[in-house]
Amino acid sequence: MMKKSHPKICLVIPVFNEGSHILHSLKRIEEEVIKVTLNYEIIVVDDGSTDDTWMKLSEDKGVLPNNLFVIKFSRNFGKEAALVAGLEHANGQAVIIMDADLQHPPSLISEMVNRWKDEDIGIVECVKRERGKENLRYRLGTKLFYWIVRRMTGYDLKGASDYKLLDQKVVHAWKQMPERDTFFRGMTAWLGFKKVQYEFNVSPRVNGEPKWSTPKLIKLALNAVVSFTSLPLRFVSILGFLFFIAAIFLGIHTLYQKFNGNALTGFTTVILLQLIIGSVFMISLGVIGEYISAIYKEVKGRPRYLIENTVVSEVVTYEKEAEDLNAEFVKV
Ligand code: UDP
Ligand code: MG
Repeated sequence: MMKKSHPKICLVIPVFNEGSHILHSLKRIEEEVIKVTLNYEIIVVDDGSTDDTWMKLSEDKGVLPNNLFVIKFSRNFGKEAALVAGLEHANGQAVIIMDADLQHPPSLISEMVNRWKDEDIGIVECVKRERGKENLRYRLGTKLFYWIVRRMTGYDLKGASDYKLLDQKVVHAWKQMPERDTFFRGMTAWLGFKKVQYEFNVSPRVNGEPKWSTPKLIKLALNAVVSFTSLPLRFVSILGFLFFIAAIFLGIHTLYQKFNGNALTGFTTVILLQLIIGSVFMISLGVIGEYISAIYKEVKGRPRYLIENTVVSEVVTYEKEAEDLNAEFVKV
């Protein structure tokens, strides 16, 4: 498919408590987008911010970038839900997903778009070359997270970021995944399609703190594993099988001892067995429980997010802009 010189690009930006710099970030991002196309739309999803983010995005329309569509959630649903909302509302020949804190360098936008325009690429993904300054707890947390995901699901997401360009056909395919609990990075890995990667250095946050608390990260890791593989359930069966083999041998041994009149010894073994089997049982139940709770969430079929309000900034259509440009061109 031939792509026009001004393809429609839609940017999706999830935002949570970024009030101090959101307008600056959006301006900066808009500056980069207009280098490649005048036909763009910016969708910002305010994920239930508790600071002045919404005020900044709704009060003074004069300072907003053009073609901005802001969706405000009724509460904090999490970045994943914000991405879902953005993608569901996006319509463009390509959609770019990026963070609001400028850690995803906007300067890459033109490269991504040009590459996508020239070749028949489904997904342009930006991978982190090195992470910006982050504290030790966070670094260890993310390391452990990627390790678990890789071991369990086989998808190596190390360095993967949510900074991606998706062709409209990929967005269409993505929309066919109906799960309630989404994990965007994993889902795009599962989709397939032709991919290219760009490396980037994570710049420091413009302002504010990262929004991932430890419980939030643990929840994301659990989601990632539970939604992509049933391997842990198989571990439970394997463990059960191993215990069964051990039980046969120990059973024979015990009976043998009894018939020989040595039945009273072996208390330590009994206690150890109780402890080991007890904990393995509980862990196994926990694993099964994780899957049941995932099924429960899916079965309830609740909406993935709720919209409380929306705001649209000045819409500058591409045709108008193009005419203006032509007019200037004629003048010169
Ligand atoms: N974010 C969000 N909802 C949340 C947490 C984060 O929409 O509950 C947004 C946040 O505003 C930012 C992006 O997700 O645009 C990435 O978050 P952050 O910078 O805190 O995390 P990191 O850069 O470490 O991935
Ligand atoms: Mg960030």
